Amino acid sequence: MFERRRPGAVLFDRDGTLIRDVPYNGDPRRVEPMPGAVEALGRLRRADVPVAVVTNQSGVAKGLLTPDEMDQVNARVEELLGPFDAWAICVHDEGDGCTCRKPAPGLVIRAAAVLDVSPRECVVVGDIGRDMEAARAAGARGILVPTAVTLPEEIDQAPEVAGDLADVVDRVLSDAEGPVPAVSAPWARAMGWSRW
Ligand SMILES: [Mg+2]
Ligand SMILES: [Zn+2]
Repeated sequence: MFERRRPGAVLFDRDGTLIRDVPYNGDPRRVEPMPGAVEALGRLRRADVPVAVVTNQSGVAKGLLTPDEMDQVNARVEELLGPFDAWAICVHDEGDGCTCRKPAPGLVIRAAAVLDVSPRECVVVGDIGRDMEAARAAGARGILVPTAVTLPEEIDQAPEVAGDLADVVDRVLSDAEGPVPAVSAPWARAMGWSRW
């Protein structure tokens, strides 16, 4: 099934996608944009496509950084990359059983809800398989931008792979026909959100 589509929003993973991955970073001075991030976000904003961040920050649950340090890092991200229309952050850890930590779909659903769009109209951009699984679980379009840490099987299994963030925006803003995700979103029905 194909149709013309432009996204309701583009939801970016933070670490390794928008900024260099510094594990459990609580120091705003260590925030460094990924190549092309500023330009890519600028193009989306000029096209009136909402942009958001969906990020796992288990360092908070692990006690490796405080919520305040995380906020400072995120403020620095906005200083360098401009304002985002929504932030959806999971501060839990693997064993906490939350519904937001990627690969669960919670962050994608939350960001979409804040932006008042359907997850099915969203594009999720990330650097690892977890990001793509979260996208698929939420019914969103996933685009992987591999880095040196991305595993070969994550690239093989990705629904779509882009060379860099400029390539992502080319794909997202192109009026070319693109595939519609064939997955259903059973959670939407389960939660009784008829609009979805
Ligand atoms: Mg990442
Ligand atoms: Zn969570």
